[in-house]
Amino acid sequence: MFENNSQLPPVNSAHPPRNGFVGYSHSKKNTLDIMWDNPGQDYNNKARKIVGVNIYRSYDSELGEYVKLNEEPLRVGYYEDKMEHTTVVEDVSTQFRYRGNGPEGEWIFYTQHPIVKKGHQLIYGNQSSDVTLTIDGVTVPVARVVGEKCAVQLIKDPWMDKLTRNQYPPILPKDNSVIICTYLRNSNYVGLSRNQRMFYKLTTVTSDAGESHLNHSDVLSQHQTEAWDYIWKEAVRRNKMILQQGGEDCWLMIRKWFGVRCSCYSTVHQRGVVDCETCWGTGVEGGYEGPFPFLIAPFDGEYKLDSTEQGLHTRHTSTLWTNYPPRLNTFDLIFRKSGGIYVVGYVKPAEVRGNTFLQQEFNASLLSRDRVEHRIPFASAHDKMFITEKANIPDDQEVRGRTVTFENINY
Ligand SMILES: [Zn+2]
Repeated sequence: MFENNSQLPPVNSAHPPRNGFVGYSHSKKNTLDIMWDNPGQDYNNKARKIVGVNIYRSYDSELGEYVKLNEEPLRVGYYEDKMEHTTVVEDVSTQFRYRGNGPEGEWIFYTQHPIVKKGHQLIYGNQSSDVTLTIDGVTVPVARVVGEKCAVQLIKDPWMDKLTRNQYPPILPKDNSVIICTYLRNSNYVGLSRNQRMFYKLTTVTSDAGESHLNHSDVLSQHQTEAWDYIWKEAVRRNKMILQQGGEDCWLMIRKWFGVRCSCYSTVHQRGVVDCETCWGTGVEGGYEGPFPFLIAPFDGEYKLDSTEQGLHTRHTSTLWTNYPPRLNTFDLIFRKSGGIYVVGYVKPAEVRGNTFLQQEFNASLLSRDRVEHRIPFASAHDKMFITEKANIPDDQEVRGRTVTFENINY
């Protein structure tokens, strides 16, 4: 029926990603994990060039207003929406409500954003240590912080340091003083209390048709998961406990689903050059997203040494399982703390009734040392991370390794 692309259905008919899922993070506080299927594998999108996925959030109402969360289209099927505070360095010289002329001679200025405390929760600042104030470059303690109201009060009377018991005179700004206030403000709010509802929508971004329409996307919410019955909730919890007790701490790099095509990409072979250091052989610039920490069942299987023309090669394939998230895909990379990089093979999800994400079973095989993946910056940094290092032993005498055996060597 369609002879060429120009006869495809009208624009913005790309289909949004399917099987979107929002759930509480297993491992991080005040974080929601959002996952979805690759929209490029949706038959309806086959003819489109997909750039990535956009994610939108609405507080309180599933009708909106939906605000886009990501700057660039997302290249993989995983997003963490987490509470974030950012540091603000603000010149408050002209933001004084009172300059010694308050009802009791107060000095009070107002910041542009509410002041919050460090941490994973939204707690407004209420201690003098929640801000750092400098007057003409001199750090000065403050008397009072009312973070929710953006108010900071200066010390106007002589004060005593409780630790040193020294008396100090107040330092107050002059007419032309430069006053800088450094504090934290909340830049992404994720409230996970029962009364805070958050809704998400996903859209597919294509280079030809723009973005799929927001109204075509299902509403996702973490409260959907509350529909599981208690047996499956318990199953998920026990599975998680097994991993925490006996699992292995690893990192996952998710191979990008979409992105800017690398210059090495061959349209004939539909892939990148194997040892390209821009895309690491994936054909998409950057190659991978991550690393994401995750737990997997202990590796098993047999290590085999093969003699090849290049020398001895270790072969190791293991059948493994892990829980969600992130969702694993074939060709993702697993970094073990013991040093090996494994590539994920076939992934078999164990889902119940289509939405209870119990676990995913997969196999993974060791990449040989000469593969370009070992040159990914994270890989080389990670390689050195777990090697023993004794500061008091000269480097040329030290015997290093990754196990406690090396830690215990006496020199
Ligand atoms: Zn490349």
